[in-house]
Order: sequence, then structure tokens, then C-alpha cells
Amino acid sequence: MSDCIFCKIAAKEIPSSIVYEDDRILAFKDINPAAPVHILVIPRQHISSAMEIDESNADIVSHIFKICKKIAGDMGIAETGFRIVNNCGHDGGQTVGHIHFHLLGGRALSWPPG
Ligand code: 5GP
Ligand code: ZN
Repeated sequence: MSDCIFCKIAAKEIPSSIVYEDDRILAFKDINPAAPVHILVIPRQHISSAMEIDESNADIVSHIFKICKKIAGDMGIAETGFRIVNNCGHDGGQTVGHIHFHLLGGRALSWPPG
């Protein structure tokens, strides 16, 4: 999608600090980190939100979780623990309309979220 910031990051039209990429997904450092490790994992395909996941594209979610596990190992937080977050819609706190999963770790994270 031409006016989507994460599509532009996936196309490398906007620079980002990439930690992993393959033919289907991209993982890069969040520009405003909320934890010592804060990675965003996105599909290259534009999917607006979790509300757009269906039988045709659901496989990407399991792939993203598998790669989150790999990145957690690479970042040294596999043993200490981490959180994978998807914000959906206004009340979910979604601010970028291209589905993304936050991988957060490197400190103890509080619960419940605000
Ligand atoms: P959301 O609030 O939609 O769940 O998360 C969007 C995230 O994208 C935020 O944590 C924000 O800091 C991050 N973000 C927004 N614009 C950019 C950008 O241009 N580059 C990077 N690396 N992260 C961004
Ligand atoms: Zn997009």
C-alpha cells in the first residue's frame, strides 16, 4: 500500500534497523523502544490488522511466532522471557495500520497493560 509506513520500511524506502528478513517477513527495531529489546515483526504483505487475518493469510502468523522465538534467542532474552504483543484497532492502541507484532524483553514487564 503506497501510503503505508511499514510497507515503505519493507520496501526499504524508509530506513530501519533490520534484525531479520526473509521472503515473507521483516523484523526491525522499534524507533521508540518501550523495553531494552523492542522489535517489530511485520509481514511484507500489507495486512491492516488482526481483523484481516483469515484462511488465506493465517500462516504468516505462525511464521512470525517462529521467528520471534529465533530473534529472542539472538537477542539473549530467550531464557529471561519476553512478550509478543499485537495491538488491534483504536482501543487496542494500534497506531500503524499494517499488522505488526511487538517483541519486548530485557526487563520484567508489568501486567495488566494500561
Ligand atoms: P502500535 O502502537 O501500532 O502497536 O505500534 C506502532 C509502533 O511502531 C510504535 O511502537 C512506534 O514506535 C513504531 N514506529 C512508528 N513509526 C516507526 C518508524 O518509522 N520506524 C520504526 N522503526 N518504528 C516506528
Ligand atoms: Zn502496509
